[in-house]
Amino acid sequence: MDSRTIGILGGGQLGRMLVEAASRLNVDTLILDAENAPAKQIRASTLHVSGSFSDAAAIRELASRVDVLTVEIEHVNADVLIELQQENPRLEIHPAPETIKLIQDKYTQKEHLTAKGIAAAESVAVDNTEESLKAIGSKFGYPYMLKSRTQAYDGRGNYVVSSVEDISSALKALHSRPLYAEKWAPFTKELAVMVVRQKDGSTLSYPAVETIQRNNICHIVYAPAQIPESTQTRAKYLAEQAVATFAGAGIFGVEMFLLENGEILLNEIAPRPHNSGHYTMDACSTSQFEAHIRAILGLTIAKNGLALSTPITNAIMLNILGADTPNEELELCKRSLTTRGATLHLYGKTSRPGRKMGHINIVAGSMYECETRLAQIQSAMELPSS
Ligand code: ATP
Ligand code: MG
Ligand code: MG
Repeated sequence: MDSRTIGILGGGQLGRMLVEAASRLNVDTLILDAENAPAKQIRASTLHVSGSFSDAAAIRELASRVDVLTVEIEHVNADVLIELQQENPRLEIHPAPETIKLIQDKYTQKEHLTAKGIAAAESVAVDNTEESLKAIGSKFGYPYMLKSRTQAYDGRGNYVVSSVEDISSALKALHSRPLYAEKWAPFTKELAVMVVRQKDGSTLSYPAVETIQRNNICHIVYAPAQIPESTQTRAKYLAEQAVATFAGAGIFGVEMFLLENGEILLNEIAPRPHNSGHYTMDACSTSQFEAHIRAILGLTIAKNGLALSTPITNAIMLNILGADTPNEELELCKRSLTTRGATLHLYGKTSRPGRKMGHINIVAGSMYECETRLAQIQSAMELPSS
């Protein structure tokens, strides 16, 4: 399909599912990550690079072996990617290194989006002092959200400042990080839209979904979100408008808040495949991973490939996190094997409490049916084997 080799910075589950999608198109991939990382396990090669996606030498080594570079995580060394792009304009890097750099600092990301007229929770940079945090409390009121500008994921780097009494513990928890503060968004639902940005700058999007977080980690996704059609359209429009402002091709995950009055605010953008888009693997003819591969190679993407494929009208994704007792989460996985319309995806990781081990996609002709099947998987009851 394409003779170019794609190098992926990061070989966790997102890298693994990118490799899977690329393989089906006969597209070759090489990974930079630790030995035996999930993505490396399913693609045998002596040319993978061992090391960290923040290490300049390792990134340069991978770049020397491939035609196109991409990422499965935004916390990479973006400065090296910028240098590589300047040294060799023919090396394709997607999304553009400056996009990754802009997005990896959540405050500069917010400033950029606000400057482009995208509605987002109001944000201000803060000093790591009690005076500064008190001044924010007077400006925003309580609660407000204190966030690390960089290296944030799964809510690690966020602190809810509920009152002035919380300020010293918030500073204690996040003192070593560069910080900014966000006005509290009193959302009724959290929405997400996966947007594909093609090389010509045009955008396509999957349906808006509802995401339910548990302990700040994506727990369940309902696709499509159970919201009015007009809200669905506005969410897709806002997400596409936001992604259109960034350079480079590929898939982007756009997280949003739906407020009681119907207003939608952008929370944050991930310049890569996203947990909220895993349902696309079994519900849509083109998954988010394949869409990313196609976008960065300039291969065609059919607009209807991003819609739920008939007769599927609804999907639910359940994340599988490592149980407190190692491998106990496999009980849930086993029940999915006997559930109609359910597909299990495991990532090849050693079980640790709270670790993302896999996910289960459930598809059906109604949300009620999806929920019934989910309840079956989540119930502790033994299921008949037929
Ligand atoms: P991710 O793993 O999605 O990258 P993250 O560490 O970057 O997570 P955020 O997405 O900023 O964290 O926040 C995590 C969760 O905290 C959100 O999904 C939402 O539930 C809540 N949250 C974040 N910002 C706000 C806000 N301004 N007001 C209310 N709740 C918020
Ligand atoms: Mg984030
Ligand atoms: Mg988030």
